[in-house]
Amino acid sequence: MQRKEFLKLTALGLASLPFYSFTKNNEDELHDVVIVGAGLSGLTAARRLTKANKKILVLEAQDRVGGRTWSQPIGENDFMDVGGQWIGKGHDSMYRLVAEAGLKTFPTYTNGKSILRKNSENKIYSGDTPPLGLFALLATQKAMNRLDNASSALSLESPWQAPNAIPLDNISIGSWIDETITNKNARTLIKRMAEGELCQSVENVSALQAFAAANATGSFKQAEKVEDGALRDRILGGAQGVSHFLHRQLKDVVKLNCPVSFVKQLEHYLLIGNESFSVRAKKVIITAPLPVVKRIHFTPALPKEKQILIDSMEMGTVIKCHAVYAKPFWRAQGLNGSGTCLDEVVELTVDNSVPSSEKGIITSLIHVDRAKNLLKLSDQERKQVLLNAYADLFGEQALHPLLYHDYSFTNNPWIGGAYSGFFKKGIFSRYGEHIAKPYGNIHWAGTETSSLFKGFMEGAVLSGERVAMELLAS
Ligand SMILES: Cc1cc2nc3c(=O)[nH]c(=O)nc-3n(C[C@H](O)[C@H](O)[C@H](O)COP(=O)(O)OP(=O)(O)OC[C@H]3O[C@@H](n4cnc5c(N)ncnc54)[C@H](O)[C@@H]3O)c2cc1C
Repeated sequence: MQRKEFLKLTALGLASLPFYSFTKNNEDELHDVVIVGAGLSGLTAARRLTKANKKILVLEAQDRVGGRTWSQPIGENDFMDVGGQWIGKGHDSMYRLVAEAGLKTFPTYTNGKSILRKNSENKIYSGDTPPLGLFALLATQKAMNRLDNASSALSLESPWQAPNAIPLDNISIGSWIDETITNKNARTLIKRMAEGELCQSVENVSALQAFAAANATGSFKQAEKVEDGALRDRILGGAQGVSHFLHRQLKDVVKLNCPVSFVKQLEHYLLIGNESFSVRAKKVIITAPLPVVKRIHFTPALPKEKQILIDSMEMGTVIKCHAVYAKPFWRAQGLNGSGTCLDEVVELTVDNSVPSSEKGIITSLIHVDRAKNLLKLSDQERKQVLLNAYADLFGEQALHPLLYHDYSFTNNPWIGGAYSGFFKKGIFSRYGEHIAKPYGNIHWAGTETSSLFKGFMEGAVLSGERVAMELLAS
């Protein structure tokens, strides 16, 4: 470290803190790029840049790689995906990575009949279409078409430039649904589906952002579909396996338990670190979700536009709940584990069993206010609520799992929620162009910056590729 810079740091109070070097005597090593975050976006960018012979370091706050993908083994043959799990139509980069990693996919289990639970009664049905009544179904179909038409009218790259972007960004998707869809049942169902995809109240997300997200996914319908949709396949061993594969390839350049709390542009390089260590780099890529970027102090301060984006993004709320049983007992009743509940705490369930195992797993995803209320309960109370709901769908046996597990990334201080983040109304149309824009030597990645499959693992990988190319071209 040069004397002048040391003096500048002393003025900031930083030089008095213990500086940690990763290998002896390399404090002054200058990296081409430091990447903050070892989720799929950070690891993808790191691999691409390493292949281009760049000197890379990845700093990850947590004690594991994978970020919002997190797979936990249960015994020898089973696993739970606590975070992201499905890949499907159009997720080409993820399928490529899975194949490269030598991992296998398996189809989402759909053999058998599904349950629709309404007014405390179960209706069993075959196929994709729940028995909601012809009129409501037609109205829902029409409503989804209207949503998809509005979405596909936007440009993928710059939806904020649409002629009607500002009015669409100033109303919530909830208000748009109220104004556009006359059938009450269809309105309720579409709002529920939208909240399931956005993980936010339909009153908080603007119509513009909801349409842009649907367009980035292919369509609103596609995000909900199993066959030929986003929920088609799972990754044997768990989705985090892709990150483990990338980590193995990157070896020593990934440093765990290294939360970054400052990024400081000095005269000749960036200084990146926290009170215990610092590293030097020519460029930095930030992949942390924007709400947790608030924990990083930038010197000089980021431009106003970026700061507004950081301050106005809110992560979604979802809890993922797994109950593991000795057998998938519902299959013996001809059921496929899929339950849709219209007015209960559990919104939907899926059979998440693993083909390599005899055990059965029922998983549910609970969103927004229902999730927030459940998070206020004790672990034991929440478990009981969930198991009671599973028993309402699948019978008494559901009350006795071998194992129950739930987790919400809302409680993870380095991620802050899921599946992804959305801006407050009125922000996307005004500042959208700054989402992925670099400032000086600071570049941005992460699924939220992707114009395709934003919020998905595919979006994360695409953003990692995009930022790496951006750096290589600069
Ligand atoms: C419950 C759940 C279900 C999901 N289901 C699906 C699905 O089925 N299919 C699908 O495609 N997607 C799904 N997703 C979304 C998908 O997992 C994410 O879009 C994707 O993994 C995001 O990757 P990322 O690299 O952009 O961000 P992240 O995975 O969030 O990575 C960012 C990393 O930055 C680290 N970090 C943050 N701050 C700092 C700091 N200051 N210093 C150092 N490191 C820091 C974090 O610890 C994290 O590891 C789901 C997500 C969740 C949580």
